[in-house]
Amino acid sequence: MNSGPVPVPTALDVWAPPRRLQGLQPYPLADVPDIKARLLAEGGSVIDLGVGDPGLPVPGIALDTLREAVLDPALSKYGFQRGLPAYREAIAGWLMRRFGAAVDPELEVLPVIGSKEAIALTAFAVLDRGDSVLVPDPGYAPYFGGSYFAGADVIRVPLRPEEGFLIPPETIRSAPGKLRLVYLNYPNNPTTAVAEASYLEEVVTACRERNAVLLFDNAYSEITFDGFRAPGLLDIDGGREVGIEFHSMSKTYNMTGWRLGWATGNRTVISALKRVKTFFDTGSFMALQAAGAAVLNDPDEYIRWSLDHLTRRREAAFKAFRAAGLDVTKPRGTLYLWFPVPTQESAEEFCRRLLLDAGVVLLPGSAMGEGGEGFVRASLAIPEDRWEEAGGRIREAL
Ligand SMILES: *Cc1c(COP(=O)(O)O)cnc(C)c1O
Repeated sequence: MNSGPVPVPTALDVWAPPRRLQGLQPYPLADVPDIKARLLAEGGSVIDLGVGDPGLPVPGIALDTLREAVLDPALSKYGFQRGLPAYREAIAGWLMRRFGAAVDPELEVLPVIGSKEAIALTAFAVLDRGDSVLVPDPGYAPYFGGSYFAGADVIRVPLRPEEGFLIPPETIRSAPGKLRLVYLNYPNNPTTAVAEASYLEEVVTACRERNAVLLFDNAYSEITFDGFRAPGLLDIDGGREVGIEFHSMSKTYNMTGWRLGWATGNRTVISALKRVKTFFDTGSFMALQAAGAAVLNDPDEYIRWSLDHLTRRREAAFKAFRAAGLDVTKPRGTLYLWFPVPTQESAEEFCRRLLLDAGVVLLPGSAMGEGGEGFVRASLAIPEDRWEEAGGRIREAL
């Protein structure tokens, strides 16, 4: 006999989050999506400069290839870590065109499901519990996340304007403990700083001295301005001996949701990462890899086209934000503007007020680590002709 609903204990009656989760800081402005939805429901308009996604159309050849590839039953099978050989070969070809470097597509390339997951999992491939790891602060969440979950001793290195937002090689040399991994990202999210090859050389040398692996996140390698060409590990003598480098189709080809990227570089680290990944994932959909291969084999016109848009957005954004009284400079790389909070407020307070009063979403630097306090990040996420309005709204709120 059914005598009404049986009381079921809720998860919270029996389950408390493990200490591991309790050790994570809450994300500032976690309520932004809710506030944004409320403003929109009340008939307001919101300009979202918070997300690092320019929303430009993906390359046509990606769509054409995917349309065909989904019909091929062979591509519906598990890809496993090896994935589609054509994708690995296209990656090797792209790296040869871009860096003039020959890599072995089987041993020096690893396809990843977007670079984020594998950037985090590299910590499990390299670090023992208690080893030291350097992560830039502010920095991309998986650097800290992977290291923290792997039980390593995370040393956050503040990125300082007076040091060009570069981690001084001396910091690597003198890091305490058994240093085994250094995370580095240039062109840098969020500070927009770029690194010269000579800096990378010094970092490679310092990592070799410490016997530490260098993880170089080159997600923005193709998004640079004013003729600056971003260097990579494959450009550097000995780079491949100490490190691995990550690339992603997310920003380069506006394919954020497709989850296509790769790691390249030191074979021992690549092989260890591959081993870790066999316990976590089974590779990305091979039809997507086929589309990725077609894009990578295509001439680089798309990148020029996309960069052209971003360059015009950068000009419009710079002009509008200057007119609003913000202390912005033109970034040499990435999709962002990075500028000091113009008031006495914390970055979070400033961004919250701008959302509520002006309907403009910005990212407080502190959302990417304490080292980002006092700064704000704005994404080049809206078309050229909307920046004047964005700037006008900010000026009024100030
Ligand atoms: C966007 C971004 C990536 C790319 O992430 P995917 O997971 O490949 O989409 C990697 N590193 C940084 C710093 C980024 O901002």
